[in-house]
Amino acid sequence: MSSSDQPTYTRREFLKKSALLGGAALFPSTAGSWFNPQQKYYQKWRNIEALPDEKKLNIALVGLGRYATGELAPALQHTKLCKLNGIVTGHPSKAKRWKSKYNIPDKNIYNYKTYDQIADNDDIDIIYIVLPNAMHAEYTIRGAQAGKHMISEKPMATSVKDAQAMVDACQKAGKKLSIGYRLHFEPYNEEIMRIGQHEVFGPVTQIHGANGFTIHDPSRWRLNKKMAGGGPLMDMGIYEVQAAIYTMGKLPLSVTAEKQSGGQRLFSQVEKSINWTFEFPGGVKAKGKTSYAQNFSNHHVKEQNGWAWLQPAFYYGGLQGKTSKGSMNFPQVNQQTLQMDAFADCILNDHPSRVPGTMGVRDIKILMSIYEAANKGKQVHFDWSNDTPLDKV
Ligand code: NAD
Repeated sequence: MSSSDQPTYTRREFLKKSALLGGAALFPSTAGSWFNPQQKYYQKWRNIEALPDEKKLNIALVGLGRYATGELAPALQHTKLCKLNGIVTGHPSKAKRWKSKYNIPDKNIYNYKTYDQIADNDDIDIIYIVLPNAMHAEYTIRGAQAGKHMISEKPMATSVKDAQAMVDACQKAGKKLSIGYRLHFEPYNEEIMRIGQHEVFGPVTQIHGANGFTIHDPSRWRLNKKMAGGGPLMDMGIYEVQAAIYTMGKLPLSVTAEKQSGGQRLFSQVEKSINWTFEFPGGVKAKGKTSYAQNFSNHHVKEQNGWAWLQPAFYYGGLQGKTSKGSMNFPQVNQQTLQMDAFADCILNDHPSRVPGTMGVRDIKILMSIYEAANKGKQVHFDWSNDTPLDKV
């Protein structure tokens, strides 16, 4: 409820008005520029006043698996600018559970057959695709065609062609597309961006990092090449690929890589582990490593006059960091809450996402080049000449 001295808008009028006025941007865009320490997202988020429920943007989650259930739905209980108000699931029993747990109206509950009917539902503003990797493209494209703003989980797609088709579909529909890169809104990772891009201890001389976990169940879609697009590189390695780039604030020039296969029970279709080395402008090397047979989560940055590291670097919480000057001390935040509110803000105030679809395409190009380098056993050079500055952030 709005207080009596505030003009009362319906949610839709509010959105329209906000778009017409250009909105008072809560967070000026950083896209296309170097990381700006004045715009650390968690600090901004603290100062946002929560919209009343009826003015919040409504999100529908598609695919109610582990991540949607364990992280996104709980995170949406704390968002200030958006809220969970729709689901798409193939399981009637899950629909029933979610409906009662999150008070989701029947008219906002879809299955995979009725999904496209969401076009007629003015109550849903954003669709968030949390399906296996190979399904992101189809459901994002259909969601955009239904007239909704879209978030796709990482990795955005299993091919560059699919990833680009997602960007094109959203652009054609005039809708925004964002990728579930939650760490861009997380204080320790934002600090690494600052330290790297602002050369706090001098220019970066070396980076190394790793992200992986052990998988035991051969039936998981993550081990199925068609569904996952690849192995741990697609799922976990992507975090260190991102971290190297957001530490440098530059794109790599080339990559070499080496992959390790594993036993047939688990790894008949995808790699068990893979290591890669990026070369950045100035000859800086960034070594990355990922695996489905080892648990690690770290990111180390060496600069000319000091160093910084994060460990764990990529978890949902409990992140820690240290520099040559001492321990980092930042608050723990709900990364997904901040990520989704940041996207809602982009829509309400019509500014670009910090983690746009084009960044997702860039990363799929890089992942595919890492595989190419590993498969051919030779250095692969990147061609960024057709990419816009936005893709380089
Ligand atoms: P999951 O297997 O737990 O959930 C997948 C969901 O998709 C399930 O509800 C399943 O029923 C549904 N589904 C629909 N059609 C399916 C099909 N044909 N085969 C298999 N499942 C089907 O997976 P998850 O861990 O929730 O991952 C989902 C996506 O989210 C992946 O793309 C993953 O990379 C991403 N993810 C991101 C993060 C992050 O931190 N950003 C964390 C975990 C997962």
